[in-house]
Amino acid sequence: ADGCLDDLVRTHIALHPDFPNPGVLFRDITPLLADAAALRAVIRHWTTLLPEGIEYVVGTEARGFVLGAPLAYELGAGFVPARKAGKLPGTPAGLSYDLEYGSARIEIPEHALPAGGRTLLVDDLLATGGTAAATLELTRRFDVELLGASFLIELAGLGGREKLPGVPLTAVWTLD
Ligand code: AMP
Repeated sequence: ADGCLDDLVRTHIALHPDFPNPGVLFRDITPLLADAAALRAVIRHWTTLLPEGIEYVVGTEARGFVLGAPLAYELGAGFVPARKAGKLPGTPAGLSYDLEYGSARIEIPEHALPAGGRTLLVDDLLATGGTAAATLELTRRFDVELLGASFLIELAGLGGREKLPGVPLTAVWTLD
């Protein structure tokens, strides 16, 4: 990403040490979301980093919704939510996965993605890659054509990239 956009992202993200758990430096994107010019500039720049031909953006609850929906809109693609368990009606496709402490479950609406649909995964931040790997595995059950995964922020030092082998991965702002 160009330095200008890096600065825009960096200056609109608030740092919160020890949230939600001790030792975590939480990066709060709400200042970026609240700034009309910054939000528009970042979403527009982000679309220029993405592969051509995206038909579906899969965004992960909750910040992947907030960023994924305007990205999908700009791309002329559809938006599909990967939700926390128990929120979707009907019989969604679901996947349980392990967290550092405990486990979580995500779900995608039953018929949301057609086989072969050209799909991009989106979330605000790539840390250990556990969330993105689970979303990837669940998305693959739909036999989509996966075009890549993209994040506003990649915390490269945590090695999340290695949990998504073979997946073209982009980030607006990568931190070491
Ligand atoms: P991970 O599964 O470890 O890659 O964590 C990624 C998910 O957790 C994303 O949905 C992020 O929103 C959230 N997350 C992890 N670490 C942070 C952080 N330092 N600041 C803000 N969000 C985070």
